[in-house]
Formats: sequence, structure tokens, C-alpha cells
Amino acid sequence: MKIDVLTLFPEMYDVLHVGIIGKAIQNGTFSLRVTNIRDYSIDKHKRCDDAPYGGGAGMVMTPQPLHDSIEAVDPNRKYTRIYLSPKGERLSQQIVEELAKVDNLLLVNGSYEGIDQRVIDLDIDREISIGDYVLTSGDYASLVLIDAVVRYVPGVLGSEESTDEESFANGLLEYPHYTRPQEFLGLSVPEVLLSGNHAEIAKWRFEQSKAITARNRPDLLE
Ligand code: SAM
Repeated sequence: MKIDVLTLFPEMYDVLHVGIIGKAIQNGTFSLRVTNIRDYSIDKHKRCDDAPYGGGAGMVMTPQPLHDSIEAVDPNRKYTRIYLSPKGERLSQQIVEELAKVDNLLLVNGSYEGIDQRVIDLDIDREISIGDYVLTSGDYASLVLIDAVVRYVPGVLGSEESTDEESFANGLLEYPHYTRPQEFLGLSVPEVLLSGNHAEIAKWRFEQSKAITARNRPDLLE
């Protein structure tokens, strides 16, 4: 999988070069390229924003540097082009797994009040939000999306880190985990987990999953 990012803040993506995602970049399981939108501005001061037509607070990202940088990265429309936006469809496990099957992803990040609508109309395939709140830039959302999607790219997670049993995989939140020691500050590991009875353990975990989902996310049970 190839992910390209267009941003005004390329250094924000340095964080992806550590941990599991960093290892996947290093061994070539997926590739990440970050491009500075400002490099494509034809303005003599490399400006990428201007005041909004119609008035109002804040600045809007101008179309020229965005459009030209998108064209430079994806001249033959081989990418799924995503604009991260609070106005987009909300990111879900289903969308994450869908995007993990795409070969080329282009993530376009807005700042200030957002980007000129004509870039969305001309160049963008899909608008995605990571939740019902407003961030200062799309980059925070892109980092979340990249991390979530790349976990589903074959070879990124080791065999010991399966995605099969985690939260959302079967529509429920995950059951609680325990590890050594058996007693910690007066709290014991539930007896059933020490029993070695796999059928009973599976039953207990399923009941716990249902209870946690009912308590924290009843909407998932509907
Ligand atoms: N004026 C916009 C609005 O009210 O919808 C918010 C602009 S926000 C301050 C700046 C940029 O952050 C947006 O262009 C978008 O790229 C990104 N952004 C903000 N919240 C987001 C969210 N929940 N999901 C994805 N991207 C977001």
C-alpha cells in the first residue's frame, strides 16, 4: 500500500517512524510520502491562504497550491483522494477495513477555516471526519486514519497481534484483559481465566463483551 499526504506541516508525520507503523515503513510493507503543499504555491511569498469571500472569521486555503500538489502526486487519478474534514462521513471500523484494501491513498489536509470548496468539487473522492469535534488541522485526523488503516495491511501486525478478536471486530467492545500477577493491590484475576477451561473462558469473555458494550456503547447493540 502507498499513502501520500499533502500538508502544510510535514514534520507532524515524523511520529509515524516509531513503533509498529515505523517498522512497517522500514521493511517496505507500506510506503509513506509526505509533501508540503506550500512547495507548490506560485505566490511570491509562498502563501497558501486568503480571506474568505463573503466575509467572516479566519482564512481559507487557496485552491492553486492544493490543486497543483494533488495533480503532481496523482497525475493519472490512480489514488483514492480523501479530504479530512469535520463535514465528512464519520470514520468507522468498516471504512478503515475498506481503505486498507486500496492500493494508493492520498490524504489532503486542511488548516485555518478549511479549503476552497472548488478543490473538493474538482479533486476529492471522499471526505472523512474522525469524530464530531473540530481540530486545528486535518493532520491529526490523517495520523489517526493512517494508524487505523495500516494495522489492516497484511504483514504490518505480527501474528501475536491479531485484529480478529479486538473491539468492533464482531460488533462488540472487547472483554477485559488480565496478566501477571494473579493478585494486585487486593484485586484478583477472575477465577475462570485460571481454570484452563477454554469453553468457559470463551463464554465469560462473550458475556463481558456484551455487558461492556451495553454500558458504554448501547448504540452498537441496536
Ligand atoms: N471551519 C471548519 C468547519 O467548521 O467545519 C473547520 C476547520 S478546522 C479548524 C481546520 C481543518 O482541520 C479542516 O479543514 C480539516 O481538514 C481538519 N479537521 C478539523 N476537524 C476535523 C475532524 N473532526 N475530522 C477530520 N478533519 C478535521
